[in-house]
Amino acid sequence: MKHVHLKILFLCSEAVPFAKTGGLGDVGGSLPLRLAKLGQDVRLVLPLYRVTKEQGLSLVLLAENIGVPLGYEELPANILKIKSKSDFPVYFVQREDLYERPNLYANEQGDYYDNLERFTFYSHAALLSAQFVGFKPDIIHCHDWQSGLVPALVRGPYAKNPTFGTVSLVFTIHNIGYQGIFPKEKLYITGLSEKEFFHPEGLEYWDKISLLKSGIVYSDAVTTVSPRYAREIQSPEYGMGMEGILRKRKERVYGILNGVDYDSWDPSKDRYLPATYCAEDLAGKGRCKEALVLELGLLRSMVERPLLGVVSRLDAQKGLDLILKVIEPILEQNVGLVILGSGSKQIKDKITEVMPRHAGRMAFKYAFDEPLAHRIIAGVDMLLVPSRYEPCGLTQMYALKYGTVPVVHATGGLDDTVVEFDPSKVEGNGFKFSPFDHGAFLDAIKKALHFFSNRELWRAIMLNGMQADFSWARSAKQYLDLYRSVVDRFPGRKIQ
Ligand code: ADP
Repeated sequence: MKHVHLKILFLCSEAVPFAKTGGLGDVGGSLPLRLAKLGQDVRLVLPLYRVTKEQGLSLVLLAENIGVPLGYEELPANILKIKSKSDFPVYFVQREDLYERPNLYANEQGDYYDNLERFTFYSHAALLSAQFVGFKPDIIHCHDWQSGLVPALVRGPYAKNPTFGTVSLVFTIHNIGYQGIFPKEKLYITGLSEKEFFHPEGLEYWDKISLLKSGIVYSDAVTTVSPRYAREIQSPEYGMGMEGILRKRKERVYGILNGVDYDSWDPSKDRYLPATYCAEDLAGKGRCKEALVLELGLLRSMVERPLLGVVSRLDAQKGLDLILKVIEPILEQNVGLVILGSGSKQIKDKITEVMPRHAGRMAFKYAFDEPLAHRIIAGVDMLLVPSRYEPCGLTQMYALKYGTVPVVHATGGLDDTVVEFDPSKVEGNGFKFSPFDHGAFLDAIKKALHFFSNRELWRAIMLNGMQADFSWARSAKQYLDLYRSVVDRFPGRKIQ
């Protein structure tokens, strides 16, 4: 069957440029855009967070005070839309008490206490928005636990709703570590019947509710963000308890690598950089390094030395403990290290503690700072990504494009995108280590430092990386093929 174009309702709780805490936001912004460019009718629905509101977007009210179910009540919400013409429509769910907070999901003490209410409300409101604007989707594509409830809602309370009667569901796991777990006593909040949904084949997970599991079991296809991670999450080591349910559905589990938004991440036109550069003319990279050393107050001599960088959420997943363990031995070799991170205060304190011993050689900025992230990825020689596990990882892909050599743990998307440098063939674009321990990590850094001292080989590694192409065009095409195969698989639900 030929599908000229599909109608896709894209439900992701964050999307660049409106709101972002990590890679999810990058995907939420880039993938719908690419799908729209492939001629698809895609609509994105987001909560109207404080950070989004503060951007001063020009929004128009589409619907005022529509009743959204939450537990035994119905609460009003406004649905807004960007006024100006955009590549695809973006709808915002406005409800001040739920979304206009300092952060998206959590404060420094931990997750917001009412996240189940917040994202249940978002899920219902997103479906009702589609209905309100008369958008009858062929596909609903949900992402992570925040919209994981939607597939259950569509198969349950909304099953007889003509807007969703023929819809197919795709669910993407961006990180299996975030499972949207809530006490079973709160099931009534969701509007789902206990008998139909709260059981081991449903969204019950060790006697609790898991919204991630809801997404996995009630969708027609489950994807994750790299082929290797798709395999890993079916094993006890990486599945975090979801491996059984994923193995059961393994024919429907796909790995599609995230793309990079090369409009924002391209050293030849990056507006955040003090100097731009490309593979044919690398001079600007040296200027970026010099400016970074100056900006972060490192010793001037660091311009001549290898400069290592980290841009990461500060979270146990990201392997900052390994970084802390290798700081002494690597800085002893008179190299520089810059870290940009936000998140756990505990990790922040640990990094801050070692700082005074390495004045002039180490810089640490505790912030979420997009422009600085660009300047670091351009200005350092190597990017360290020692994640315990990494579903896809974007920073190593940015690094490759910027001629910054990644040193990564051989896991998930890091393993799929970084190719170990082989000096005999002058092939490969980075360095990988395994197992996950600081000895192996240190060996990989030392190996990279060894090649750094050979200018010619180092340049070859940089250029190999700069040639890699992880553009969204390819990934979006794979999603589109998947959508089509899912729509075709369910003839009863075929579109006209
Ligand atoms: P994750 O989604 O697990 O955080 P990814 O590597 O997939 O990891 O994506 C991280 C994204 O967030 C990248 O775009 C990276 O540049 C950005 N990022 C992470 N930490 C910071 C920070 N402190 N400041 C600015 N950008 C950051």
